Amino acid sequence: MRMLLIGPPGAGKGTQAVRVADHYGIPAISTGDIFRANVSEGTPLGLEAKEYMDRGAYVPDDLTNALVLDRLAQEDAGSGFLLDGFPRTLAQVSTLDDCLEATEGGLDAVVQLTIETDAIVDRLLKRAEDQGRSDDTEDVIRKRLDVYQEQTHPLVAVYAQRGVLVSVDGMGEVGEVTERIFAALSGRVV
Ligand code: AMP
Repeated sequence: MRMLLIGPPGAGKGTQAVRVADHYGIPAISTGDIFRANVSEGTPLGLEAKEYMDRGAYVPDDLTNALVLDRLAQEDAGSGFLLDGFPRTLAQVSTLDDCLEATEGGLDAVVQLTIETDAIVDRLLKRAEDQGRSDDTEDVIRKRLDVYQEQTHPLVAVYAQRGVLVSVDGMGEVGEVTERIFAALSGRVV
């Protein structure tokens, strides 16, 4: 089972990705988490990624693609995975397509989490207080929303056209949203 969670920053992707992946017994692979781990460990990748993350820009495709290809080649991803935050650009879609074609076919489902824009800034400012993420200041949040609209939102249409997209309302309690995701996926994934 191969899935992707897509949606704007603050839609709850990270939280839902862990819950959904646990339920299906597959790893949740979050590029944001991998970058943040590298930043805290001070690796060369982390140092480079931090420059982009701190200003709300995307890390360049070549760095991101290499990281994901390496992660997908690990054994635990062999029987499926849930991607959180990748692909985020059309170039990343192509890389993922090539990688999946080399094995057996594409994604089984793409879950789009939707959220009202006004709620996003509030949620992210609250997360900044709780988790102290350096890219959760108001200016950077707005920049990240612009980048999402411009570079990532077009991917929704790509996956809709392929017939794998389901849209789920991301507003409300965490558990409620998880149940909506399971309902949307029933019949699509086993
Ligand atoms: P996230 O935790 O998914 O919100 O990601 C945090 C930050 O990591 C993003 O704002 C980007 O700077 C970077 N990042 C995560 N995933 C990607 C990706 N697929 N492509 C480029 N940059 C990414």
